[in-house]
Amino acid sequence: MNALQGLIGLFFPDVCLACGSLLTRGESSVCLSCNFLMPKTAYETIPDNPVARIFWGRVPLHAASACYFFAKKGRIQPLIHSLKYRSNKGIGLYLGQQLGTSLIEAPLYQDVQLIVPVPLHPKKKHIRGYNQAEVIANGMAKVMKLPVVTDNLIRSVATETQTKKSRDERWQNVKNIFTVTNPSQFTNSHVLLVDDVITTGSTIEACVTTLLEATHLKVSVATVACATV
Ligand SMILES: [Zn+2]
Repeated sequence: MNALQGLIGLFFPDVCLACGSLLTRGESSVCLSCNFLMPKTAYETIPDNPVARIFWGRVPLHAASACYFFAKKGRIQPLIHSLKYRSNKGIGLYLGQQLGTSLIEAPLYQDVQLIVPVPLHPKKKHIRGYNQAEVIANGMAKVMKLPVVTDNLIRSVATETQTKKSRDERWQNVKNIFTVTNPSQFTNSHVLLVDDVITTGSTIEACVTTLLEATHLKVSVATVACATV
């Protein structure tokens, strides 16, 4: 920290995005205490965890997990909110690194070759300025030392907002909206599909269906958080 940054810090101190307490030297975005207390699932070590079960009978996946429990007023919610609605890409990279670190040692994810973020519709990406899943994927790539592919699985049709729809309506809404532009890039590979939060899994299911229809490959799923049931 130089003198000017120190001075700016006096008037505009950085606060922890999860708990609001002042950050000290060496801490960025999230304080050490929140970093320690974030509600980890450890699902990456359990093959038949609740996130994997979401997809049972729907699409065949090699593995599926989420790093944290997402609870209203919990520590994760303000971080995701900051990433999606406050243009805070730094927190997305941080969360991606946390997620990537949790997967590095997990046996189920050892042969992953490519990281593919769930695509946002170009219009939405234009409004937000970026795809939050892509930012998370970039954070993961740093620690997992794997390439991120953003131009092969693409989204073609805009969907209405998902929040007020039932699971069935959501599925009708998202199927057939993804396309694989270059199937051979994914052929015989292990693709890790990445998103911010998993709720019903409909969007991810549509992505996996499209991938499996396009070519022969192995698909796994990893999200930063899962909604607690
Ligand atoms: Zn904190």
